[in-house]
Amino acid sequence: MICDENLRKFIRDIADTDDTFEVVPHAFAFIGEQYRICRLKAAFLAPVTYCFFDEKRKDLVLYEQPDKKGYLTYHVEYQTKGDGKVIFEVFQEKDVPPFTEEEKKDIKTILDIIYMHCLKWKLVKLAREIGQTDSLTGLPNSVGFHAHLDELIKKNELCRYNAFYFNLVRFGLINNRYGVKETNQIITRYAARIVGFLQNEECLGRLGGDNFVALIRKERTEEFLNIISGVETYGLLDGKEEPITIGAVAGIVDINENNTDSANIVSDCSMAMNIAKHIRKEPYAYATLEIKEKRLKSSQMITNFSKAIQNKEFMAFYQPKVSIDNYMIVGAEALVRWKQDQTFVSPGEFIPEFEQNGMICELDFYILEQVCMDIRQWLAMGIEPIRISVNFSRRHLSNPNLAEDIMRIIKKYDIDSKYIEIELTETVDEEEAGLLISFMNKMRKYQILMTIDDFGTGFASLNMLRSFPVDVLKIDKSLVDNMEENDHIILSNVVKMASELDMDVVAEGVETWEQVDYLKTVNCSVVQGFLFDRPMPKEQFEEKLKLGKYEVG
Ligand code: C2E
Ligand code: MG
Ligand code: MG
Repeated sequence: MICDENLRKFIRDIADTDDTFEVVPHAFAFIGEQYRICRLKAAFLAPVTYCFFDEKRKDLVLYEQPDKKGYLTYHVEYQTKGDGKVIFEVFQEKDVPPFTEEEKKDIKTILDIIYMHCLKWKLVKLAREIGQTDSLTGLPNSVGFHAHLDELIKKNELCRYNAFYFNLVRFGLINNRYGVKETNQIITRYAARIVGFLQNEECLGRLGGDNFVALIRKERTEEFLNIISGVETYGLLDGKEEPITIGAVAGIVDINENNTDSANIVSDCSMAMNIAKHIRKEPYAYATLEIKEKRLKSSQMITNFSKAIQNKEFMAFYQPKVSIDNYMIVGAEALVRWKQDQTFVSPGEFIPEFEQNGMICELDFYILEQVCMDIRQWLAMGIEPIRISVNFSRRHLSNPNLAEDIMRIIKKYDIDSKYIEIELTETVDEEEAGLLISFMNKMRKYQILMTIDDFGTGFASLNMLRSFPVDVLKIDKSLVDNMEENDHIILSNVVKMASELDMDVVAEGVETWEQVDYLKTVNCSVVQGFLFDRPMPKEQFEEKLKLGKYEVG
């Protein structure tokens, strides 16, 4: 008979671990000796669809005295959920008499405990998997992806891979067209297509939304980039399948011995992706040394933000908007600059960072306040101001009092609201679209003009035109740069549609007279660009204001 103390010790030993099979050989030893058991085997039988292991039957030796021969004298069967079975087989040494009923009872108690523990272990394993898995696609989530990287680091194999962070192109459009439920299906189909490409220990993870990460063997990098440049799948609308091709912008880290920290790898990839997407406007970018230095600089920027606000290091530069009918200055855009050691750092260097952690909201209000102060000063100096547009990040949309907060600043400086215009980039996210509409409606009530910035970089904008109270449409530089036949048709249609909807159109990034002539042919009459002026400090802009127009020809 097992004494109580031994039984308790067995339970204690086995309870302390998540992995039953790791401790049983040791915990079972004293029972093995007492009953002269030479082997304890567990057979797991699982239907293929409900696998405990990935085969139909899996035998595991839980305890063994290798030099002793034995024979099977006792077995216990447990029925698991989903038609599976666990069978424990107990082998006694050759020269001992078979178990008595009493002894069988004792052993059954021990096997019950082992079986219960197997179930618990399975639960722990499941819980761990859930914590590491994206519930929509079943792919590893951020935790799971890092765990996979760490596994490969342990095996010293990570350097054979390149890491990718990629964001789907114009995915908001898909969201807009198909709604949340079908969009989730599209994401799942998309993920399955990429998973189909993976080999061996390559890995795809989803970080949420339309952001993915991947680990791909170095020699397959080009092939992978090719795959993600356009994954063909479909969306269901009113029961009809519509083919869609989903592209992506990727940041890549070429992993080597010097960078095997999983957190740094993912953050470098994401930084490279942001550079590809927002600065270079290319399908992918590698995280070069230069990019990593930028990351370091960015984190310093975040640390220095509050001090920079206090020291008034941020300032508004102004870039005129010009009518190409008469070359009058009809407005201007305020663009933030960060003055550091006598140089002016451009927003591309710090805005993406501030966007990520929300500091952008404070900065935008700071710039709005500066613009209001400048307008107040021009009025005091007898200079007739023009309307100044201020960029606001979409991150503000979660602030239900955004419109009121903007108005409070305008009132504080006693400025007529006709002098202020707010620029927001387009959105196609359903939830955000609702917030944007309600914000825009309030702005209309306060008579502050609303501009949709960077129009043409997203696809859904044409849809948006109808349902949003937009006053001005700002055509992105990329549309102005391409003066090919197709773009000509798109552009002239956009301008036509905008005027039908009573919106003004401003073309951004105009650098040549050729572009001006072209814009005239599509009836776009206001431009902003280096051709006339780069963004400039307030004092210099004041001189332009006094002149009021450009001398041309
Ligand atoms: P944006 O609002 O689309 O501003 C236009 C950008 O195009 C400006 O870059 C401007 O300098 C540049 N640009 C204008 N004309 C030309 C041209 O002819 N050629 C070229 N190559 N570029 C031209 P900037 O000042 O570097 O600003 C970049 C972006 O940073 C802005 O794009 C805007 O999205 C953001 N930004 C700037 N200031 C603020 C701000 O105060 N708040 C927020 N939230 N974002 C800001
Ligand atoms: Mg803008
Ligand atoms: Mg723009």
